Amino acid sequence: MQNSILNGKTYFIRTFGCQMNLHDSERVSGLLDSLGCLEVSGPEDADIVIFMTCCVREAADTRLYGQCSSCKSLPAPPSGRRVVAVGGCIAQRDGEGLLKNLDNVDVVFGTDSIAHVGDLIADVFESGGSRVRCIEGDTGVATDMPWHRATSYHAWVPIMTGCNNFCSYCIVPYVRGREKSRSFEQIVDEVTGLVRAGVREITLLGQNVNSYGRDSFGSPRFAELLRAVGETGVERIFFTSSHPKDLLPETIDAMAEVPSVMPQLHLAVQSGSNRILKLMNRKYTREHYLDLIERVRGRIPDIALSTDIIVGFPGETEEDFEQTISLAQEARYAQAFTFIYSKRAGTPAAEMPDDTPREVILERFNRLVKVVEGTAYDFNQKDLHTKVPMLIEGTSKKDPGMLQGKSPKNQTVHAPVPAGANPAELLGRIVDVEVDTAKTWYLSGSIVGDMR
Ligand code: SF4
Repeated sequence: MQNSILNGKTYFIRTFGCQMNLHDSERVSGLLDSLGCLEVSGPEDADIVIFMTCCVREAADTRLYGQCSSCKSLPAPPSGRRVVAVGGCIAQRDGEGLLKNLDNVDVVFGTDSIAHVGDLIADVFESGGSRVRCIEGDTGVATDMPWHRATSYHAWVPIMTGCNNFCSYCIVPYVRGREKSRSFEQIVDEVTGLVRAGVREITLLGQNVNSYGRDSFGSPRFAELLRAVGETGVERIFFTSSHPKDLLPETIDAMAEVPSVMPQLHLAVQSGSNRILKLMNRKYTREHYLDLIERVRGRIPDIALSTDIIVGFPGETEEDFEQTISLAQEARYAQAFTFIYSKRAGTPAAEMPDDTPREVILERFNRLVKVVEGTAYDFNQKDLHTKVPMLIEGTSKKDPGMLQGKSPKNQTVHAPVPAGANPAELLGRIVDVEVDTAKTWYLSGSIVGDMR
């Protein structure tokens, strides 16, 4: 068998970017495990080093170049030969070009070519040289590959890849291609298998999950999918990302009616100014967005709403920015991922006049962060002196004596490790925490009742 050369080789994967990339890394890892490779915790011990890249932000390119170069100074691994591979969005975008810019890279594989990574790496070990495979639609959503989950209780479940939206600042549709939905049956079967294997929480993944099924059925079937996945018996369902223009009333109904769909919604707004939303090609207005939130809150009053916001989009005026501030206040976000606009070559926004001084953008960014911190703090106060079910994910990085987990609203929760308990044995258990402290980014309290 061609890949037997990989048997016993050690590998290390570094992942940049979004959950889709994390999941792609799980697939690469599962594939290498199935070929007899062993995962190690650092590049220095690895015969195979893989970088799973993201090109949404410019800094990601710089980090990749830095990390790849630093591999050159590592001592040789036990086998004497180290193969460096680059996958993910930058690989899909740059293909062969990466080999010119990074002289120690041996393998480049695209987002749709994960199933071939074992063969590509084995070829390099056997015959030297470099290998590139970046074909859009090559193996589609790699569903039948073995995969190695980072945890036994949570799983990422991709339901679609690609995006049709072409927001003017975003490179994703150019590198991940158009929307491709997995079949309904495949997804439900996968979740059923995960539940049988002991998984309690899943996150359905896609660039725009609300439009799931449009490519194969002519109209979105995400609401139907949520209901079917709810029937599998999985205890907690999260999903990301949702585009506001595609969030349909039937999806809001399914979120409200399926008990395992958690009261959390990530709805990226990007800007509160209609003028900027138009320049961004987002295809909704602030009024539509706020109306959607109203409707969601009408059905799920305690929903934890999170969002993405870009500050400093080309041409953003103070008036535009104030619209963003007022929207963030009205939306009362539980969490917001705020970004300073970063130009991506090849997108329409990269050609737009952009003369706002950096210090003005930074000042706006800091103002927005304060507003979001305020709404997040207020949101968490509502859970003070209530019982919150925490799914235990480990211990706090700052204090190993504190368990850390997640609430149904995706809040971070802390509680002391019970006397005599080994935290490693509590991973994936659910327990109620009586909240006595509610801060901006976490809740903490004491455990009440039994572990479930
Ligand atoms: S919806 Fe817009 S921002 Fe999101 S992936 Fe698609 S093009 Fe990019």
